Amino acid sequence: MEDSYRHKGLRKKLVRAIADKGIEDKAVLQAMEKIPRHWFMDNAFVEYAYQDQAFPIGSGQTISQPYTVAFQTELLGVRKRGEKVLEVGTGSGYQAAILCELKAKLFSIERHRHLYEKAKYILGEMGYRPRLFCGDGYKGLPAYAPFDRILVTCGAPEIPQDLIDQLDEGGRMVVPIGQGDVQTMTLLEKKKGGELHRSTHGIFSFVPMK
Ligand code: SAH
Repeated sequence: MEDSYRHKGLRKKLVRAIADKGIEDKAVLQAMEKIPRHWFMDNAFVEYAYQDQAFPIGSGQTISQPYTVAFQTELLGVRKRGEKVLEVGTGSGYQAAILCELKAKLFSIERHRHLYEKAKYILGEMGYRPRLFCGDGYKGLPAYAPFDRILVTCGAPEIPQDLIDQLDEGGRMVVPIGQGDVQTMTLLEKKKGGELHRSTHGIFSFVPMK
């Protein structure tokens, strides 16, 4: 796992491009500048790791586009060290590394065993210690609820009720909603007392939630 000056330089450029596209959260940009995205992709794709594009990671899945990772992370708003965050769709583990870098107490679920194993290995090598699970994230992780933040990184037809139930009061959930190729980025805030507030934040394209 090497991270050369060239990689670092390309990453700096990528982060500048993402900031130009409207991402303002300094902590998010710093985390993205620090984490070698190419470690989460197959060797053959090293050249592509620092383009603002999604890429195949095996099992028919993709590592999300860097801008999308930044956008979802900014919207999620991880503020305090040790905030409990649930991610649905670990995939490559890249988004998970960003959340760990933001000092979240991270729980992440992936349904493909091969991806789960790979993510577990690389995150461990990097010294991060998220709790990773292999299984169906549609039902969340009731045993570990409630969560301060929930981030879904695959397109869901609607917001799964189990995830809403597992969101703490004062919590935020970011989930791309929609069937087919495109989804509406949706933010769900659970107010004190349990009232839900829903807002939408543009159109994105994710692999589907299964
Ligand atoms: N956050 C990932 C993005 C991966 S794409 C990254 O940074 O690379 C979305 C992932 O969601 C895929 O790996 C897919 O296998 C997974 N997924 C889809 N439906 C799921 C479900 N019901 N439970 C858990 N994971 C799911």
